[in-house]
Amino acid sequence: MKTRASAALPDASRPHVVIIGGGFGGLAAAKALRSAPVRITLIDRRNHHLFQPLLYQVATAELPPGHIAAPIRGLLQEQDNVTVVLGEVIDVNAEAQSIHVALTGGEQRAMAYDYLVVATGAQHSYFGRDDFAQHAPGLKTLTDALSIRQKVLHAFEQAEIGDAPATAGLLTFVLVGAGPTGVEMAGALATLARKTMKSSFRRINPASAKVILIDQANRILGAFEEGLSLKAQKHLEGLGVEVRLGHGIEQIDENGVVVGGERIPSKTVIWAAGVAASPIGKWLKAETDRAGRVRIQKDLTVAGRRNIFVVGDTSSLDQDGRPLPGVAQVAMQQGDYTGRLITRRVTGKADLRPFRYFDKGNMAVVADSFAVLQSGRVQLSGWLAWLPWAVIHLAYLPLSNLRIAVFLQWLWAFLSGTRGSQLIAQSQPSTNTNPSAN
Ligand SMILES: Cc1cc2nc3c(=O)[nH]c(=O)nc-3n(C[C@H](O)[C@H](O)[C@H](O)COP(=O)(O)OP(=O)(O)OC[C@H]3O[C@@H](n4cnc5c(N)ncnc54)[C@H](O)[C@@H]3O)c2cc1C
Repeated sequence: MKTRASAALPDASRPHVVIIGGGFGGLAAAKALRSAPVRITLIDRRNHHLFQPLLYQVATAELPPGHIAAPIRGLLQEQDNVTVVLGEVIDVNAEAQSIHVALTGGEQRAMAYDYLVVATGAQHSYFGRDDFAQHAPGLKTLTDALSIRQKVLHAFEQAEIGDAPATAGLLTFVLVGAGPTGVEMAGALATLARKTMKSSFRRINPASAKVILIDQANRILGAFEEGLSLKAQKHLEGLGVEVRLGHGIEQIDENGVVVGGERIPSKTVIWAAGVAASPIGKWLKAETDRAGRVRIQKDLTVAGRRNIFVVGDTSSLDQDGRPLPGVAQVAMQQGDYTGRLITRRVTGKADLRPFRYFDKGNMAVVADSFAVLQSGRVQLSGWLAWLPWAVIHLAYLPLSNLRIAVFLQWLWAFLSGTRGSQLIAQSQPSTNTNPSAN
């Protein structure tokens, strides 16, 4: 019997497509190349594809991490023309058509390509205040989500056993940035404190926790119509979230934040304000926008480099005079287009028409069963928006077993009011320095 391990290696004479990144854009490109006469190497520094839109639910103890991520190798195991490599790309030499990869285990290797697809996503930007990073972690990876969850759960534990003065700011959670991530986190933290944990402690009342959402803009969810922003804000405030708008953050340190000249003591500050592209623009010596995203042509290639495509959050493309947003749909549609275009180029067919993003709409969850949705002229809020949000998020999870697991977890949370993932996996370092006590 032929096993997968003995399957033939992809034909070395075929054009080599290297894809950097197994997120939404990279995975869509690889899948669109499934029938192309190419050999593909997909390189990612993580072994898993991460469904970032549900990260906030891991950070707020709603879902366990394994429910929103899947090994890239497993997702592509049926596609014989793909080889998956775990490693970090550290440089690209466009003249020599090669990349440099730091492989897991420490070895570095150069790899030649005929076509390069860069889908490396974005990282946090602290707008020039990188010193904020150590006190205000962002939410981008599973590690980020787990460390935020740990910090939040520890805060309640510490408050339960601590003295009031020593616990100042322990139960004040500050979210910087009132876009979808900040709003979702604020709503989920307020629900955790006021509903999920309301009977779990004896000395403290978890509902006394403060959740503060800060943004320098004058309204939350700026990408939505004003009416929906206001409804979302009203719902958050109904949950007890304090929304402070119109002032930027002046300082963040271990004791809290300063905003509008006022110090707010807080031991947990979460950054949801800005993203910056990966360093790909520098590697390619290509034109970038202010956030460092590579400016690309209508066929998603870099100017002057017909075989280098940049897709998703790390690219910048205007459509109808406005830059495309950094959302999963853009990355997926661009990845798919790139895969189809490379297929046409290697088979000698005419190019596709220029890329055009089809905007299916914008959604954000505010709390458990309240969302806002905007699609064309349709504007919905509350349950009516939450239902499509839930269906779409389930549908786009990369595996059926994850869809079932997340659905069951949500159903159980809805019926029981509990959350399934309140484990603190790692203890804080012991402060006991007496070795004889161990
Ligand atoms: C908390 C959060 C919530 C979000 N919610 C939504 C939402 O509700 N709806 C929505 O549409 N969008 C949402 N987004 C945005 C969406 O997730 C992104 O737009 C999308 O992931 C972009 O896809 P991408 O392929 O460009 O990058 P990613 O999906 O981020 O993938 C990039 C991949 O590249 C890999 N990589 C990076 N650098 C290297 C390197 N040097 N070498 C090797 N591998 C590398 C990374 O490990 C990663 O796997 C959210 C994002 C976050 C962070």
